[in-house]
Amino acid sequence: MTPKREWFEKDYYADLGVDSGASSEEISKAYRKLAKANHPDANKGDATAEERFKDVSAAYDVLGDAEKRKEYDEVRQMVASGVGPDGAGGFGPGAGGFGGFGGPGFGGAQGADLGDIFGQMFGGAGGRGGGRGASAGPRRGQDLETELTLSFDDAVRGAETSVTFTADAACSVCHGSGAAPGTTPEVCSQCGGSGAIAVDQGPFSFSEVCPSCGGAGRIVRDPCSRCHGHGVERRPRTVKVRIPAGVTDGKRIRVKGRGAAGSNGGPAGDLYVGVHVTKHPFFARKGAKDLTVTVPVTYPEAALGATVKVPTMDDPVTVKIKAGTASGTVQRIRGRGVKPAKGKAGDLLARFEVAVPRKMPKAQKQAVEALAETITDNPREHLGV
Ligand SMILES: [Zn+2]
Ligand SMILES: [Zn+2]
Repeated sequence: MTPKREWFEKDYYADLGVDSGASSEEISKAYRKLAKANHPDANKGDATAEERFKDVSAAYDVLGDAEKRKEYDEVRQMVASGVGPDGAGGFGPGAGGFGGFGGPGFGGAQGADLGDIFGQMFGGAGGRGGGRGASAGPRRGQDLETELTLSFDDAVRGAETSVTFTADAACSVCHGSGAAPGTTPEVCSQCGGSGAIAVDQGPFSFSEVCPSCGGAGRIVRDPCSRCHGHGVERRPRTVKVRIPAGVTDGKRIRVKGRGAAGSNGGPAGDLYVGVHVTKHPFFARKGAKDLTVTVPVTYPEAALGATVKVPTMDDPVTVKIKAGTASGTVQRIRGRGVKPAKGKAGDLLARFEVAVPRKMPKAQKQAVEALAETITDNPREHLGV
């Protein structure tokens, strides 16, 4: 049930000629009597009676319904306390009046009800009055979203790149004013630039969106030909994006103030760039800062120990493998991972795997066969086989 705007103005008890403490029977009785006396069928052509009949019906519609009556009584108490339904501004000056809400139904805990009433009336009712804040004044531009594909190298090292996308932007001809070059928008004379006007209705003043400027506060007499006075145009934009070293696939990077243009002098929104990172032929990422690489070694290198070259994102490094290194052993190479702008660099995790050739030259085959003859221990003994 939404309280009606007219509840602030109408005294339904007076319309029915009853006391505000009247019982529901007294109200029904008064209604029946007045409705009969002023019924259009009995008063053909009597405009006063017709008006009276309408008022009586409207009054009974509210007071004859216990729930509606309760809400109406609450609204009337607000009126008695000097709180007007003055939309957006109402709660400022009206706040003092809240002290007078000591009566039943307006205890502290029910303050929310009061907010609901205003919210429903002025927010829900299509922005009348309370729409002042929403339709006029500076408004921040929308946030925009775009995507970017980076090479593995750029993602690891960081990069300065750019994204191009199509979006609403401040018009390139009028720079967002909406007015043709050489002219400027005029301040709306009806609302003085505020975008809202006061409408007097009975004892209350309502604030409504200015009909002359539609809430903008300004009027463009000579609209820009490019944007037709809107101040925005859809066009491709290129925005520079700084990619921090170590960005990972799926990250969103925020570029402040590079979203859609704001209106009425409001700030622009932000641009969010979704990052995709292409795969590297042999490096991969692990965690925030480490890189991995798989390094094949021969059986003799793993068995006897060796010095092997390992690639890094920069120059290759030389790494010693101990004699008896098992296949799959991972060696941490310090400082060869992601190097963030701040903080410690990550590591490169080199995983050594014994490479087994598919085909061997004859000499190698003979050597391996000779080796096999020397191996008498069963490497599967611990498995019980
Ligand atoms: Zn323009
Ligand atoms: Zn105006």
